Amino acid sequence: MKQLLDITIIGGGPAGLYAAFYAGLRGLKVRIIDQNNTLGGKLNLFPEKIVWDAGGIPPQPAAEIMQNLIKQGTTFNPEVILNTVVTDIKKENDYHFIVETSDKSYHSKTVIVAVGSGIIKPIKLDIEGADRYEVNNLHYVVPSLKRFKDKRVLISGGGNAAVDWAHDIAPIAKSVHIICRKEDFKGHEETVRQLDDLGVIKITNQTIHSLIADEDEIKQVEIIHNTDDTIQILDVDDVIINHGFHMDCELLNDSTVQFERVDDFYIKGNANTSTNTPGIYAIGDILKHDAKVNLIIGCFHDAATSINQIKMYLDPNAPSYGIVSSHNPIFEEENEKIKKKLFES
Ligand SMILES: Cc1cc2nc3c(=O)[nH]c(=O)nc-3n(C[C@H](O)[C@H](O)[C@H](O)COP(=O)(O)OP(=O)(O)OC[C@H]3O[C@@H](n4cnc5c(N)ncnc54)[C@H](O)[C@@H]3O)c2cc1C
Repeated sequence: MKQLLDITIIGGGPAGLYAAFYAGLRGLKVRIIDQNNTLGGKLNLFPEKIVWDAGGIPPQPAAEIMQNLIKQGTTFNPEVILNTVVTDIKKENDYHFIVETSDKSYHSKTVIVAVGSGIIKPIKLDIEGADRYEVNNLHYVVPSLKRFKDKRVLISGGGNAAVDWAHDIAPIAKSVHIICRKEDFKGHEETVRQLDDLGVIKITNQTIHSLIADEDEIKQVEIIHNTDDTIQILDVDDVIINHGFHMDCELLNDSTVQFERVDDFYIKGNANTSTNTPGIYAIGDILKHDAKVNLIIGCFHDAATSINQIKMYLDPNAPSYGIVSSHNPIFEEENEKIKKKLFES
């Protein structure tokens, strides 16, 4: 039998997770669907980066913020469906939507689209067979800096992300080369300059030409000059590729429910998170309007707003705002435990 929950949230990044939490606070039943094998959204792309701008939270690695968000987002036991791409959104009527995935249909009274930048995939190194080294020493995301301790690291890419990794890795690595196919690095000028102080060797106008490997591990990299074709060979322990990301938003392009869009990508919406279809809301990075802030804190604001809107959509007599958590009886039992611990310490 189909289960008509209050909300289906598409995307389990900061926006979707906070929406799941706040929905529980307002007594709404939700499911979260994410194509990834883990919750957390884009924070999975920069786990070791220190985030300073999440209000009231001391500077800490994105991975920690992500773990806390996942904990908070699952407080009220939402149904969580991972490894599942949402392929379509259909409307039965104003209070019944069907969210389609490759193997199942999910029914709910409303839908929150929290897909961020869509399905993000790193642009891979264009060398045949390079994927076999991904299990060992070819990386597209840096999960942990520790692994580069005393290693000879080659970073390919000229943007901020590549320059940032060079910055972070240089103090612990044996050596860092950064290679860029253009004349100059695109990263912030001062950050690029500091690479010299950190002993990072900058190579411009060159690209990776081939990988010389032993079994499944890259041992050397051949780099080629863009104009005179001269080749140089570097000994490496690890190779990091930062050539940008593909952002796939097929769901919004192909959806049966049509979305008004901005720049052929974002959902055109309002600060109240409504879209052109009543009953469907957009939050987080995918939502665009004049006052939009694409930060983690912007996700929280959107999420709480959308849940309050949905509460009133489903029950026109409901108050437009939720009772604040510090006065919410829903937490009474947990609050007692927290207070007891505080008094004991
Ligand atoms: C390198 C980098 C550094 C950043 N640093 C900061 C910072 O210091 N401070 C800060 O505040 N912000 C920072 N941000 C921005 C912040 O990460 C985003 O604003 C935030 O992650 C947006 O959250 P979201 O939930 O809207 O989207 P996302 O985090 O992108 O999550 C969207 C989720 O939707 C899923 N999804 C997409 N399409 C589908 C589909 N069809 N079916 C199922 N699931 C789908 C994705 O798998 C993903 O898990 C940074 C971003 C990057 C890339």
